[in-house]
Amino acid sequence: MALIDTFGRAHNNLRISVTDRCNLRCTYCMPEEVTFMDRHELLSFEEIAHFVRAAVPLGIDKVRLTGGEPLMRRDMPRLVNLISKIDGIRDVGLTTNGILLADQAQALYDAGLRRINISLDALDPARFRELTRRDGLEKVIDGIFAAKRAGFQPVKINAVSIRGVTEHEVVPLAKFAREHGLEMRFIEYMPIGADHWERGKVYFAHEIMDTLEREVAPLVPAADYDPRAPAMDFVYTDGGGRVGIIASVSRPFCMSCNRIRLTSDGKLRNCLFALDEIDVKGLLRSGAPDGQIQEAIQRSVHSKWEGHEINTARFVKPQRTMHAIGG
Ligand code: SF4
Repeated sequence: MALIDTFGRAHNNLRISVTDRCNLRCTYCMPEEVTFMDRHELLSFEEIAHFVRAAVPLGIDKVRLTGGEPLMRRDMPRLVNLISKIDGIRDVGLTTNGILLADQAQALYDAGLRRINISLDALDPARFRELTRRDGLEKVIDGIFAAKRAGFQPVKINAVSIRGVTEHEVVPLAKFAREHGLEMRFIEYMPIGADHWERGKVYFAHEIMDTLEREVAPLVPAADYDPRAPAMDFVYTDGGGRVGIIASVSRPFCMSCNRIRLTSDGKLRNCLFALDEIDVKGLLRSGAPDGQIQEAIQRSVHSKWEGHEINTARFVKPQRTMHAIGG
């Protein structure tokens, strides 16, 4: 069976936010002062695994674990192991800010995690602190190298490019990644956080490309470029590795979207920018049969819109901010 929406898009990729808590306060994501959800509001590992088991027969075979900061949830290797063992799940990934990764990388890898993305928007300590409102750059870098030692290949680095804020980090990050065999992914700044988004602060994909080609090395499209993946993948012509650009604003990829999201408090979202949600926590906690959970998933996918409306006058920013949705 396939989870096909009314635009013919098949959904096989489930993003699961395991917590809204975070140990950083990135200005484009969350406010300084934030009230996190009570622990009992969060789905347990068993409830998350139950949901994934119910979703597999509908075509879900790929899971990405996100937050807030997922490693703030205790014993994440156990959840990775639970999900990796589910028949039909062929791929488990995780997105982390890296602060707690150095101590957990090996255990996550041993538990079955195979894909890891580490968010790092700045290598300059002052800019890192200004953006995250916390210290921790050294810990993130330790986490990156621990992930490499654990066997993750590739180790991907996600960086949000904001004009006048992190645009000057594009070249240092690209060079750092080339030097250490990492894969950079530059992400256009989106209106999904707690801050006031301005189109003028988006450092667009073509500008990122121009900067890389001018100051690092020429780029060509990657031979194995996947049109369904959010990132446009390129390789440096000098053999210096790969770089991806996620152009959500300037080149939306909604028409090849294959993703649905489960929030840490058990809400289904059929789009990052969705304005409504379907509760499945009640179903999971009431012992409802899997058929009812599957019906809720299908209802969510069938009501999915064409795509985000960032580039239209109709755009409405979701109530829920990024840290409570997960990337
Ligand atoms: S904005 Fe929504 S529809 Fe578009 S790619 Fe992202 S999740 Fe999919």
